[in-house]
Amino acid sequence: MRIAIVGGGIGGLTTALALKEFGFEAEVYEQAPMLLDVGAAIAVWPNALRVLERLGLAEAIHQHAGEMDEIRWLDRRGFLINRVSIPRSVALHRADLQSTLRHALPPSWIKLGYSLAAYDVCKDKVIVRFTNNEEIEADFLMGADGIHSDVRSQLLGDGPPSYRGYTVWRGIASAAPGSVSSNTAIEIHGRGQRFGIGPVGNGRVGWWATANATTEQHSSHDTQSELLRLFHSWYKPAVRLIEATASNRILTTPAFDRDASSIWGDTRVTLLGDAIHPTTPNLGQGGCLAMEDAMVLARCFEKYGPSEEALRKYESCRQSRTAAITKYSRFYGNVGQWQNQLARGIKKIFLSLAPESVLQRVVQTVFDYDATTVTV
Ligand SMILES: Cc1cc2nc3c(=O)[nH]c(=O)nc-3n(C[C@H](O)[C@H](O)[C@H](O)COP(=O)(O)OP(=O)(O)OC[C@H]3O[C@@H](n4cnc5c(N)ncnc54)[C@H](O)[C@@H]3O)c2cc1C
Repeated sequence: MRIAIVGGGIGGLTTALALKEFGFEAEVYEQAPMLLDVGAAIAVWPNALRVLERLGLAEAIHQHAGEMDEIRWLDRRGFLINRVSIPRSVALHRADLQSTLRHALPPSWIKLGYSLAAYDVCKDKVIVRFTNNEEIEADFLMGADGIHSDVRSQLLGDGPPSYRGYTVWRGIASAAPGSVSSNTAIEIHGRGQRFGIGPVGNGRVGWWATANATTEQHSSHDTQSELLRLFHSWYKPAVRLIEATASNRILTTPAFDRDASSIWGDTRVTLLGDAIHPTTPNLGQGGCLAMEDAMVLARCFEKYGPSEEALRKYESCRQSRTAAITKYSRFYGNVGQWQNQLARGIKKIFLSLAPESVLQRVVQTVFDYDATTVTV
């Protein structure tokens, strides 16, 4: 049996690993000629750590990662608005996460330099064609090819994702400014702008920043100067982190997502991760949801056998969870990007008055999902 996964990102690699865990074999077809150490920090929250633990990778991840057991919200001057304790979570360089996943797979399962051109479903097979003129015949095709998924375009043809009105910048600084507390994820709110700080292991600090932008095109050549201009009067450690990160090490990404789709697949083809439910980065959950998808998909193959029935079960199991997180993330981002002074004042009062028990309940709805045991 041949299971073809298109896309060797977090979702594709975790899906191959989860299938392996349940005794199946898969091949991951990735367009990049080599898997480069690109990207910034990525948070892995308890819902995804459970998946990595089940795959025997938790220890390897912890070796590379910074740990977080608290979230703090500050105003732009650095005054505490509120805080909540959270179950142990981690953040690490995306390259470390990707390479941990990749090295846990047999090398022969990963095919680099294979960009999907098109696929055809013929009776009980899927013919997958690549732009390098190679072609394979697979029993199942899983589209894990990210937010601009070609598998999705062919399956759903529903156009590009939606821009949500703000830009996100990310960087990693090699050392923490003195006053930043370890084990804490910090989110700072200002007027139409936010700044986030978190430990990413080996003394490094990951940071992210947002600002409203009417267009998704962003064309600054000197990103560091632009950010220093936008954040110059903010909490000093935030400014120090920007100063410590050269422009060519800062990633700029417009915030996108999509409304939930009721169709995730057809016959022997399905979608997972950003290919089906791209999510704004506000909750740091897009990659975590892709890992949940991977585990649920593999468990459905185990329970129902490798079949179209298993794919449809996987899809129905995942729809409401991913739609809820995507919606909540969009809402949280919209509120976070408010510019209106009155609205921001009300937000600050609500956030500062929220008892920890309420904040914990909100956090739990996201973190408590267990893809390794949820009914499939
Ligand atoms: C600013 C920002 C911050 C974020 N922070 C977090 C965070 O802290 N925690 C978190 O969990 N998530 C975070 N995310 C979301 C996370 O990055 C994504 O949800 C996650 O990468 C999705 O994984 P994926 O495997 O579905 O897609 P991707 O990681 O995008 O991987 C898709 C892969 O498919 C390949 N591909 C594309 N087209 C083809 C083709 N035609 N043929 C073959 N291969 C193809 C690509 O090269 C790529 O390797 C963040 C996102 C952003 C933008």
